Amino acid sequence: MSFDLLVKNAALPDGRTGLDIACADGRIAAVEAGISAEAKEVLDAGGRLVSPPFVDCHFHMDATLSLGLPRMNESGTLLEGIALWGELKPLLTVEAVVERALRYCDLAVSRGLLAIRSHVDVCDDRLTGVEALLEVKLQVAPYLDLQLVAFPQDGLYRSPNAERNLLRALDMGVDVVGGIPHFERTMDDGARSVRALCEIAAERGLRVDLHCDESDDPLSRHIETLAYEARRLGLEGRVTGSHLTSMHSMDNYYVSKLLPLIAEAGVHAIANPLINITLQGRHDTYPKRRGQTRVPEMRAMGINVAFGHDCVMDPWYSMGSGDMLEVASMGLHVAQMMSRDDMRYAFDCVTRNPAKILGLEGYGLGKGCNADFVLLQAADTIEAIRLRATRLAVVRRGRVIATSAPAETRLKLDGRPGQVDPAGYAPRASG
Ligand SMILES: [Zn+2]
Repeated sequence: MSFDLLVKNAALPDGRTGLDIACADGRIAAVEAGISAEAKEVLDAGGRLVSPPFVDCHFHMDATLSLGLPRMNESGTLLEGIALWGELKPLLTVEAVVERALRYCDLAVSRGLLAIRSHVDVCDDRLTGVEALLEVKLQVAPYLDLQLVAFPQDGLYRSPNAERNLLRALDMGVDVVGGIPHFERTMDDGARSVRALCEIAAERGLRVDLHCDESDDPLSRHIETLAYEARRLGLEGRVTGSHLTSMHSMDNYYVSKLLPLIAEAGVHAIANPLINITLQGRHDTYPKRRGQTRVPEMRAMGINVAFGHDCVMDPWYSMGSGDMLEVASMGLHVAQMMSRDDMRYAFDCVTRNPAKILGLEGYGLGKGCNADFVLLQAADTIEAIRLRATRLAVVRRGRVIATSAPAETRLKLDGRPGQVDPAGYAPRASG
C-alpha cells in the first residue's frame, strides 16, 4: 500500500516514542513502529513530539488585531476595554472584520492552531461581526475549524434588541448560544438570562457557552444556575462556563458543594489565563488575587477543563500571538500546577480537553482520526510548553500546510563557538 504522508520516528503526547504515522485519504491509517510502505511524502520527526493540533476554545475573532482602533485602552482595564469596543463597533465594516480575521487565521495555522471557538458580538443591530465571521468560517473551512458563539456582549436584557439579535444570529447559522449573566443589571436578571439561554439551546439542539462570573465577586454564582439548568434540560456535555473567575474568591465550603454539581451536570470549564491574570484583582491593593478559576480542584472532581486565549491585540489585551503554548504556560504558572503530571495536563488543556468542548469529530492521533497534527521542536509536552516550541510542520488532512525553520542560534563567543538548540537541554527520560 502507498500512503500520502508518512511521519517517521515521532514521540506522542502520551509518552510513547519511536512511532511512525501513516496517512491516507485525509485520515490516519496506522500508528506503529517501523512502517516501511511507500509514501508520496515522508516527514522525519527525528524523535520529536507530534501532537494533535492546538484548539482554542475561547476567542473573540471579531475584535482581534484591532488594537489602537479607534484609540488605545489607556488604563488597560476590562471596563475601559468594553467601553472602547462600544466606540469601535459602529465603525466596523464586514470587509475590515473579514480581513483581520483571515490574517489572524493565517497566524493561527502557523502556530498549529487548527480549531477555534470564537464569540461574536450580537449587540449591534447590523450584525456586522456575525456576517463577517460566517463568511470567514466558510473561507477557512479547508484548513481551520471555526465555531461561532452568539455573544450578547452588553447583556441579553441590559442591551436593547440583544435577545432578538441573538436569535437572528442563530438563524443565520451561528453554532453556539452565548451570554454574560454577571453583566446584567441584577443577579436576578443574570439568573433569568442563564435559564432563557439554556432553553433556547435545548429547543434548537445547540451547545451553550457563557461568559460566566468573570469578576472577583465571590457572590457571583451564575455557574450554579448554569449547571442546574444543564441538568434540568438534559444538556449534559453541551454546556460550558467560560472564565468562572469569581470561583477564585468564593468561600471554600460553598465551592465544595458547587463542584460536584458542575461535575454531575457535565458542564465544561474554561479558564483564560492570560486575560484572567491581567484583568482580575484590579480593585485589590495587596495582597492581589490572581483571579483564575480553580483548575486543579475541578480536574480532581472529573470536570473537563480547558484554557482559552480569549484575546489577541484587541481593546482588552494588547499582547498575544496565537500561541496556545504561551496560554498553557501562563495557566500552569497561575494555578501553580508544577508537578510533572500537572504540566502534562496543561498541554491537554490546549489540545484534547478543548476539542471535547467544541465536540470536534475525528480529533486525535488514533487510527481513523483526521490526519491533522503538529510536529514540534521538543521531545515531549513539558518541553513544548517550556520552550513555546517551534512548529516545524503543521499537517491538515494529511497535507503539510505550514512549516517553520528550527529555532537555533550560532554562538560567536571566543573559545566557545558552536550552536545552541533550545530543545537540546531537556532530560530525555519521561517521568
Ligand atoms: Zn471572552
